[in-house]
Amino acid sequence: MAAPLLPPTTLPPFAQRAWGGAFASGEWQDWRWQLAHRLTSVRAILDLLGDDFRVAPDVRAAMERAGAASEVSVTPCYLALARPDDPRDPILPQVLPDPAELDAAEQGSGVPDPFREEELEIAKGVVNRYPDRALFLLTNFCSTLCRHCMRRREWEGGFTRLSDAEIDAAVAAIAARPAIRDVLLSGGDPLNLPPSYVGKVVRALRERCDLDLLRLGSRVPVTLPMRIDDELLRELAPAAPLWLNTHFNHAREVTAEAAAALRRLAAAGVVVSNQGVLLRGINDGESDQLDLSRALLRAGVRAYYLHHCDPVQGVRHLRVGLARGIELIGSLQGKVSGLAIPRLTVDLPGGGGKVQADGPQLRERRGDTFVYSSPLCGERVAVDGSEGSFGGAGSWRVGVAAAGPL
Ligand SMILES: *Cc1c(COP(=O)(O)O)cnc(C)c1O
Repeated sequence: MAAPLLPPTTLPPFAQRAWGGAFASGEWQDWRWQLAHRLTSVRAILDLLGDDFRVAPDVRAAMERAGAASEVSVTPCYLALARPDDPRDPILPQVLPDPAELDAAEQGSGVPDPFREEELEIAKGVVNRYPDRALFLLTNFCSTLCRHCMRRREWEGGFTRLSDAEIDAAVAAIAARPAIRDVLLSGGDPLNLPPSYVGKVVRALRERCDLDLLRLGSRVPVTLPMRIDDELLRELAPAAPLWLNTHFNHAREVTAEAAAALRRLAAAGVVVSNQGVLLRGINDGESDQLDLSRALLRAGVRAYYLHHCDPVQGVRHLRVGLARGIELIGSLQGKVSGLAIPRLTVDLPGGGGKVQADGPQLRERRGDTFVYSSPLCGERVAVDGSEGSFGGAGSWRVGVAAAGPL
């Protein structure tokens, strides 16, 4: 059966109540309106969902504590994809803090920066881990903060972006290393920045560096698809060919609006691939992955990576066991084109680089411990491939939460 594309006129009852007027007037289609109306606390989200979302009072209080201990943000158009009465809703658990985020075991199981990105900086914002590649972090701002974010450490201390002088220094540092053939602009979400700012950065990189590949990492096609407008595409055009890696995790996110944004990108010569994250209770079923891949194929997007959940503090409850992840991806072989099958990828802790979970770098497996050789230094790195310690996404729902550790 075809994965659903939501017609553009669908708002669930809670969203109709809150934003029906803005939707009817067309303000909804303005990305600036969407950014200005982000929901930035657990209370704001739960008040908006109202009685459509049933959660026990003690769980609600624990969620508010988890939200207060970090940051919360979601655009109206992303939250409107939630179906709060669906026990397998894949949207809410990506944006609503789970009480498990604060659990001591959860906190103890991860670190803020498992990949030592901050040590590998060659200029402010430029991480050079692979000899041929540079990760260029322009901002820590994201319109929608994913609970499974690998850079949760960046959420603290308010939002910033690199200044003109810092961009100049970063581009100079990249240009001074001719071994760098590939620049990946990320953040935060670089496409939440003003179009003229993004345009300036991509043009500077094209003019001053000799690159094979210039890429953007952005979840805007998912969380703010109206952002892909003519103004932005005009700014990006001089830097063509550009590649964009986006982050769809579930077929429910491939809406008509998202598909239209992806078509606009393709028409402007931007090549779009998908990097999802394997999330417990969100997309860890075979049909979840098949439906997602098929919806993306219809939107002209090929599957690239499916990330094993990184050992970042507060994310463990969403982690799928590595053995199960390998089995899941294996089960897709033969059922759908290779263009639709992502590579299950583990980012080695300590900055050892990314490896294919069941690829040639897997040297040894002892129970849930997977030992890989780093493609960068050859060193052996042990990866904890165990399942999350709590119920996974949605375990806070009434009835399920009662049986959990809380
Ligand atoms: C993931 C990553 C890249 C890009 O890796 P690809 O495998 O080419 O997608 C570049 N730099 C850093 C630091 C990364 O973590």
